[in-house]
Amino acid sequence: MLILVANLLLVYTPVVPSSAAATLPSIDLEGFRWNSFPLRVLVDMNAWSTPDYAAAVHEALDDWLRSIWNYTSSFNDTSLTMIRFAFYVSDINRTDNYNALVTFAAGEIITGSETVGLTTARWNNQTHEPISPVTVNITTYSATASHLFVRNVAMHEFGHMLGLGHASSQNTVNGPELMYYVSSRNGILFPSTLDVYGLTLLYRGMYDQTVQLPADIPYKVLSEGTVPPATPNFWENLPPYMPLLVAIAVILVLAPILLRLRRKSKPEQTAQESPQSQDDPQA
Ligand SMILES: [Zn+2]
Repeated sequence: MLILVANLLLVYTPVVPSSAAATLPSIDLEGFRWNSFPLRVLVDMNAWSTPDYAAAVHEALDDWLRSIWNYTSSFNDTSLTMIRFAFYVSDINRTDNYNALVTFAAGEIITGSETVGLTTARWNNQTHEPISPVTVNITTYSATASHLFVRNVAMHEFGHMLGLGHASSQNTVNGPELMYYVSSRNGILFPSTLDVYGLTLLYRGMYDQTVQLPADIPYKVLSEGTVPPATPNFWENLPPYMPLLVAIAVILVLAPILLRLRRKSKPEQTAQESPQSQDDPQA
């Protein structure tokens, strides 16, 4: 058994986005894919982490699922619907059984390189099984980084955790490419159609390849606007007049019941008062 190792870096520098998407964008697929879900992701809290960063990591996992659902419904491809995550935080619900370990670093992962994220994966090159844990390291600049920064770096690194390499293009037609090896600091990042399409091929067994989108799938960001929320908050989404409607509905349901109770209670009262009642043992 040969164990292969991939170290995948994310460099974070301000870049000027080019206006046109690169022609024939492609993405590399690694030599592994996960076989059982949910993937158990443990966030290891340390001096450079805050509860807000743990929440940012959780948000990144949720947003990956949202983008996969978006892709599934947009292109009628259900090959990734088995992907699920279980989320653990070391000081809340620690587990010793995890597939991915997220840790936070004080500064650049590799000094002087502007590297802000690093995923290290090992796998068996015959079974293509990852060897747990895959580790994800994110800098928080000594806990000064923003929530969005940590969330974006986590988004990119989770693409590696799932088995993606880097994409060749810096921009899609409607936003930045998540899996480009350099990222700019502005805006929220989501996977592209190329990223998720690459995953569908990887999870069908196309290892160690560089792939391109088919002509019928546009190269775009699978943004949050067209995907169902991961955990919809029912009460917040209700229109403002909903409490009144609920009150009216309650009255409509209760009114007949109350009327029936009143009708029932009247004969019972007369029966108790009546000395002729057969139900009254005193009679
Ligand atoms: Zn990377």
